[in-house]
Amino acid sequence: MSTHLEKAQRVVVKIGSALLTDAETGKLNRTWLQALVEDVARMRARGQEMMIVSSGAIALGRRALKLAPGKLKLEESQAAAAVGQIGLAHAFQEILSAYGFSCAQILLTLEDTEERRRYLNARSTINTLLKLGAVPVINENDTVATTEIRYGDNDRLAARVASMVSADCLVLLSDVDGLYTAPPHLPGAKHLPEVAEITPEIEAMAGDAASIYSRGGMKTKIAAARIATEGGARMAIANGRSLHPLKAIEEGARCTWFAAHSTPFAARKRWISGSLKSLGTITIDNGAVKALMGGRSLLPAGVTAIEGEFGRGDAVSVHDAEGHEIARGLSAYASDDARTIMGHSSHEIEELLGYSGRAEMIHRDDLVLKKP
Ligand code: GLU
Repeated sequence: MSTHLEKAQRVVVKIGSALLTDAETGKLNRTWLQALVEDVARMRARGQEMMIVSSGAIALGRRALKLAPGKLKLEESQAAAAVGQIGLAHAFQEILSAYGFSCAQILLTLEDTEERRRYLNARSTINTLLKLGAVPVINENDTVATTEIRYGDNDRLAARVASMVSADCLVLLSDVDGLYTAPPHLPGAKHLPEVAEITPEIEAMAGDAASIYSRGGMKTKIAAARIATEGGARMAIANGRSLHPLKAIEEGARCTWFAAHSTPFAARKRWISGSLKSLGTITIDNGAVKALMGGRSLLPAGVTAIEGEFGRGDAVSVHDAEGHEIARGLSAYASDDARTIMGHSSHEIEELLGYSGRAEMIHRDDLVLKKP
């Protein structure tokens, strides 16, 4: 089981506020963070892609603003996050750069992972950062998120991020070492090292206990597990209290692993071909059909007709010259712009549209070929 982490290609590590900040003083726990970054650096050196979802903005900011202990009002926590996020990002930047990494701050709101157009943008930015070797450090944009449209907890945010970027592993580091059959302090409570399926019994085992800083109790962790495993990632709930928590997992520290229900690739393809309604049709020439069959992206040059009205990121059907549906995909252009650039080569896009959009009309990652 310890090899789950070592075998992963793309890993999201979520850090709870209770680990990053001292409960007494509210100060950032630098020694701990440094040890974590050391773990991240070691995994990176092995060729694994790493990103961090970090809580702690509110916990740090409330101390700086001298807010009274206890539950904060929404606007107070938003104010605290505005202050705390700077300190948080600064600490990550300082420590990551000491290990030779560029630190990239990404603040997301719920709409960024739920609305397809924004989702595609966030996804491609994170992919680009990973390609360039940076370590994305992600948090919710608490300051602008309103009650109705916020995650509220970073467990689910991390799970959404994991499935958005097709990560194959998510580790939730907090102050619990996994899921138990009953509250851990009760006699007879048994630790579960592996959960193959999130059944109603498993859900019932999740109590509601959350620490004073983090809103995410076991319930949100199970909700996160559902999202992550359906998106093709294996997920661990692990205790991050000791230094080098990732190394500890690799060395067999107690934690709970939730099995992935598919691969990130299959989950994404299923999402594109199965759950999205096609809003238009893009007809392509034989050359483009060949390119698609060969695993390439769809370029505007090979497009001969566009039907329907669709926006950027909407699902469309791709037809060959005879009108057979050969693929489904997410269009990088809205239908009007797609009509303008169809038949043209990609370097003409800027001149035709007045902005430099993507070179592909449908990127191959956003394309699913129909079975012949
Ligand atoms: N986004 C919040 C923060 O940075 C944390 C939410 C959570 O505790 O899960 O303070």
